[in-house]
Amino acid sequence: MSEYVKFTHQCARADIAPFDELPDLNACRRKLRELRLIGVDSNGIGFGNLSVRDRGTSNFYITGSATGGLPELTPMDCVRVVACDFQKNRLRYEGSAIPSSESLTHAAIYESNQSTAAVIHCHELALWTSLLDRVPTTSKAVAYGTPEMAYEIMNLFKGSGVQHRKIVVMAGHQGGIVAFGKNLEEAFATLMRERRESSLHSTRLL
Ligand SMILES: [Zn+2]
Repeated sequence: MSEYVKFTHQCARADIAPFDELPDLNACRRKLRELRLIGVDSNGIGFGNLSVRDRGTSNFYITGSATGGLPELTPMDCVRVVACDFQKNRLRYEGSAIPSSESLTHAAIYESNQSTAAVIHCHELALWTSLLDRVPTTSKAVAYGTPEMAYEIMNLFKGSGVQHRKIVVMAGHQGGIVAFGKNLEEAFATLMRERRESSLHSTRLL
């Protein structure tokens, strides 16, 4: 088990069939990789993860742990999360990969907002710095991949306007940003808009 995955996971089935959203997922990952919003850090650790809701259900497909460096994913690199227990920090999934360390964060968004069908978690220090406390932001005391992060996200949905802004900054996870939307295109577009606006903002400050 990866040392970066902090929850207990139980594999319900060792494989998953190709899913309809996989081509979109790969297309979105290609763009994110080009922009270095997902990839491999200087220590060789993959970062960034994406998920899509399994249409009309509370289940979702998410990229496996440490797949950030792979140019193209197959169903073997993804899992289908079929149950989450936030309190016990536990999830059940199908597939041969290990679910991303941030699966519970994704689950918290799907659970809080029925119209969300895609979530992108990426890293970018400049954007993170610029958005910190300007958009819905999780507490600095809360680390990634913990039940506290899932609860923190659920709390943001209770009144921070996050469902309209569709982006969250993780103060306790340097560089960590989460964007979401009704599909991957919308989540990606939100990220691009925030990047454009934050670069305008930093130019104005010069
Ligand atoms: Zn991260």
